[in-house]
Amino acid sequence: MIYDVIIIGGGVTGCCIARTLSKYDLNICLLEKETDIASGTSKANSGVIHAGYASPRDYIKRQLAIRGNKLYTQAAEELNFPFKRIGSFVVALEDNQIKQLEEERKKGIEDGIPGLEVILNKEKIKKMEPRLTDEVVGVLHAPTGGLASPYELTFALAENASMNGVKFFRNRRVVKITHQEYVFTVRTLAGEFKSRNIINAAGLYAAQISRMLGLDYFSITPRKGEYILFDRNAIQLNKILFPMPTKISKGILVCPTLHGNTFIGPNAQNIPDLEDISTTTSGLKEILEGAMKLVPSLPVRSSIRNFAGLRAVPEAYDFIIDNTDVYGFINVAGILSPGLTATFAIAEKVVEFLELLGEKLKVKEDYNPSRPKPERFKDFTKEELDKKIQEDPTWGRIICRCETIPEKEIIDAIHAPVGATTVDGVKFRCRPGMGRCQGGFCRPRVIEILSRELKKSYEEITKRGEDTNILIGKTKDFLLNQKREGSRGK
Ligand SMILES: Cc1cc2nc3c(=O)[nH]c(=O)nc-3n(C[C@H](O)[C@H](O)[C@H](O)COP(=O)(O)OP(=O)(O)OC[C@H]3O[C@@H](n4cnc5c(N)ncnc54)[C@H](O)[C@@H]3O)c2cc1C
Repeated sequence: MIYDVIIIGGGVTGCCIARTLSKYDLNICLLEKETDIASGTSKANSGVIHAGYASPRDYIKRQLAIRGNKLYTQAAEELNFPFKRIGSFVVALEDNQIKQLEEERKKGIEDGIPGLEVILNKEKIKKMEPRLTDEVVGVLHAPTGGLASPYELTFALAENASMNGVKFFRNRRVVKITHQEYVFTVRTLAGEFKSRNIINAAGLYAAQISRMLGLDYFSITPRKGEYILFDRNAIQLNKILFPMPTKISKGILVCPTLHGNTFIGPNAQNIPDLEDISTTTSGLKEILEGAMKLVPSLPVRSSIRNFAGLRAVPEAYDFIIDNTDVYGFINVAGILSPGLTATFAIAEKVVEFLELLGEKLKVKEDYNPSRPKPERFKDFTKEELDKKIQEDPTWGRIICRCETIPEKEIIDAIHAPVGATTVDGVKFRCRPGMGRCQGGFCRPRVIEILSRELKKSYEEITKRGEDTNILIGKTKDFLLNQKREGSRGK
């Protein structure tokens, strides 16, 4: 079969484009190299939906972030992913920084960002965010700044796109693309796909994909950002806190999450390796020192995890979204921060580009923009829960005690459209293993449930796909075999 559109890459960009295009009468598929979607940059970032003032005015990413921020309200209603506008502060610690805050405010207001204000009254600032350092002299408050859970958003987008007919193929690393008579042939490590159009949303690998068609007009450098995550309720913040920005980054922030944790980070370090998400002693020290300038009372001993994400940084430091010289091949590359914020606006741009290519985009009669809200134990009243447990006892079996996740939520995550097939897939969809013990207690039970629901052996269940097996056999079988071999040798 020849698809109308193939999307390469199942991060937030590819999945948002898939969901946006699923509205139209098109045959679409998405190819992802990993065992799950949301396995790249979209898994590990700050999750901040920026107000949009932070990029220079002549950058496309500024316009798309401002528009993208606005599109979140409707998208969150339709797709039911965690999202909240809690507002952000850029924190000035010296008097001479106030001028810069005033300039950002003025430009931001002119560009249509609502509610931006510079607050100089310390008492008012501390009332809005009591944890902020006493050294504060002023803040730029952006009430439209918010938080989204980036991977839960990506899953929601994929589920809705799948409900509307987009085919998702995971474990399909694209290795070669050829183009003949207006049809692309896309070779993956597991089969060939044909399409009239390709959208390259391959994140860190977008330059490599582009080069497969001889288009080498940009390159991508990975820039690592490390984080420290604190235990739920160890500290409560009201606002997203940014320091004054540097030339290459928005700086190290102190930020609440939508699940009640707090994190600090990221730093910014160019690295050569597209897969290196290790954390480093020097990096963690850097973010701790940076974050403590904003919140000196950080609960350092309550850290439960360190992690890192990689930004896909192009030379020009701006998004590359264009119809290329190869007819039907659209690059959506260099989607560094604020790519999550801009995602719905980026997808709108892709629609424009497809129209420019002459695609007649007709809205499907049965298009459904809504993705049902996943049912959560913590959202039910006691009476509702009693009823649920009577109807289905898996609601009453708590698998993850740190996060209070019952078996039913895990089963639902596995059987959702584009559902979980790995331990991490379950963890990122419904949180078992996200709490204080980091899966120490619940992981064996999650493996059991995955094995039963997917009809696979325990040994076939992996952490996150190929080469991440957790179990290699039964301990007793192993010992018995060793004993037999030993006695044979005697
Ligand atoms: C440290 C950090 C902090 C950030 N903070 C924010 C923030 O607070 N707010 C914000 O708006 N943005 C933020 N961003 C930016 C945001 O995370 C990115 O813009 C966004 O996640 C990019 O998504 P993507 O889909 O383009 O890339 P990815 O999520 O990397 O997706 C690309 C996908 O393509 C797949 N792929 C690659 N090669 C192939 C191939 N050959 N075949 C098939 N599939 C392939 C990959 O496996 C991957 O799943 C941050 C980024 C980082 C790193």
